[in-house]
Amino acid sequence: MIKEARNKLNNVFGYEDFRPLQEEVITQVLDKEDALVIMPTGGGKSLCYQIPALLFDGLTIVVSPLISLMKDQVEQLQQYDIPAIFLNSTLSPDEYQRNVDRVRNGEIKMLYLAPETLMMDKTRKLLATQNVDLFTIDEAHCISEWGHDFRPDYRELTEIRKDFPNATCLALTATATPRVREDIEDILKLDNSETFLASFDRKNLFLKVADKEDPLEQTLDFLYTRKKQSGIIYCFSRKQVEELYVELKKEGHSVKPYHAGLSKKLRNRNQEMFIRDDIQIIVATIAFGMGIDKPNVRFVMHYDLPKNIESYYQQIGRAGRDGLRADCLVLYSRSDKQKIQYFINQKEGTEKKVAEKHLKDMLKFMETDECRRVPLMGYFGETYKKDNCGMCDNCLSIDAEVEDLTVHAQKFLSCAVRTGEQYDAYYIADILRGSTKEQVLENGHDELPTYNIGNEWAKEQWILLARMLVNQEYLDRNESHGPLSLTDQARAVLDGKENVFGALDRSDTVVGDQAMERTTSEVEKNYEKDLFEQLRDKRKELADEQAVPPYAIFPDTT
Ligand code: ADP
Ligand code: MG
Ligand code: ZN
Repeated sequence: MIKEARNKLNNVFGYEDFRPLQEEVITQVLDKEDALVIMPTGGGKSLCYQIPALLFDGLTIVVSPLISLMKDQVEQLQQYDIPAIFLNSTLSPDEYQRNVDRVRNGEIKMLYLAPETLMMDKTRKLLATQNVDLFTIDEAHCISEWGHDFRPDYRELTEIRKDFPNATCLALTATATPRVREDIEDILKLDNSETFLASFDRKNLFLKVADKEDPLEQTLDFLYTRKKQSGIIYCFSRKQVEELYVELKKEGHSVKPYHAGLSKKLRNRNQEMFIRDDIQIIVATIAFGMGIDKPNVRFVMHYDLPKNIESYYQQIGRAGRDGLRADCLVLYSRSDKQKIQYFINQKEGTEKKVAEKHLKDMLKFMETDECRRVPLMGYFGETYKKDNCGMCDNCLSIDAEVEDLTVHAQKFLSCAVRTGEQYDAYYIADILRGSTKEQVLENGHDELPTYNIGNEWAKEQWILLARMLVNQEYLDRNESHGPLSLTDQARAVLDGKENVFGALDRSDTVVGDQAMERTTSEVEKNYEKDLFEQLRDKRKELADEQAVPPYAIFPDTT
């Protein structure tokens, strides 16, 4: 049988090989044994029932919670010439009847339904006339109150399952904690079933949590190093989506908003533009993303704290589906935590308990100084064993060295002074790197002694340094990306009386085309480390060449 399954994989779906666990699950189903499949989003759950459906004589029923998900799948199957249809409220009476007739005549291999359609008497009667071989429940976590989108209708499946005594039951989900898993097994009576648990570790996702200080500024910095990369920014509220969208637009970003308050037409259009790469960024509430299968999402940023680990995991799961590196950043603040706590306090009973547990688990992830993969995988019941994943901020910071950055700080600070403390970090970096931009030339800043003295660093590095100088209170700034002015402490640096130390945050430095070209296996080799080492060597070389005091372009401080 599995040979035939492989044949379908190659010749109907056009894929070379099974993904992890697909073959095992399909074998189990073809043996007519029940199964629970827990596989991350994008892992390839659909094939686990689509291939058996083609090999069974009878009908395969697929219960799915969302009409849009059903529609996408059915359309795709029809393109492969597979007789698949759905029954739901979006069909006209005529279409509905035609689909019913096709089921009755045994022309259909796969029937997609929402649970509420399945519960209807006429549906049950129709299906009673059919030989149902496989009863599939997709997004099976909806059955559990402990899951993140509980659907009371899913509860009815317990009863309905009895209608199909000869059918194998296959339940699939991407989000099942041990607790939810138990619920699914209990409710669906998967007593003798086997559970297939795929690893939830997405090795190509770089995980990072940053303190939310000046979120707009942080976002702009993050985007600055990700030009042309496709990405999603999640916000907590519609209002926040709108505000951030406007700000990003103002800064010239290619961006569209997405939230449930927009018309369906507009939502679809914005989503379509994002998928086709007509725009670079989508700013969205959690309403965005269900069922989206865009391979080249290079980053997912959380402007606000996600509601719980499950939704966080689902959302970051939309990044890096092509297996190349993708970056996931959460801006985390205590006030966000209080916002969520406030909503939890409005709830009661189990719902409140569940929400509280979710918050606690998520804070564990946000606040850990261990590898981020430990609490994340732990949440899904998996023990993460590697000491250093090399792909999260905490793992990288273990060997982040605090360096003497005095020379570079002096260059930057003196350049800020030379230009009258009227410019932002980007402009100052341009001068340091000898940019021939119009603005620089018009201002005569190519005549400055600080012009072109900072070529050894990429612009991104200078921006990071500037950030660090702001954080360490050498520089002052009134607004996001506003002009930088020097503090008294900075004058001490310029006078050579104080040294500047810091560890530049490496996780944001290596980006752009280089990051795109890497393959997953190279990602595993932790390329960030070696690139940074190269940079560091280069800097050392440079420092060695220069006599001390390194950069005596001291401004006229009198
Ligand atoms: P899930 O439901 O687990 O989130 P899907 O079934 O939607 O994932 O599959 C995600 C993507 O992976 C789809 O584009 C699908 O065509 C692709 N895919 C699934 N199985 C394979 C495979 N064996 N080889 C290559 N691509 C696959
Ligand atoms: Mg799916
Ligand atoms: Zn790690």
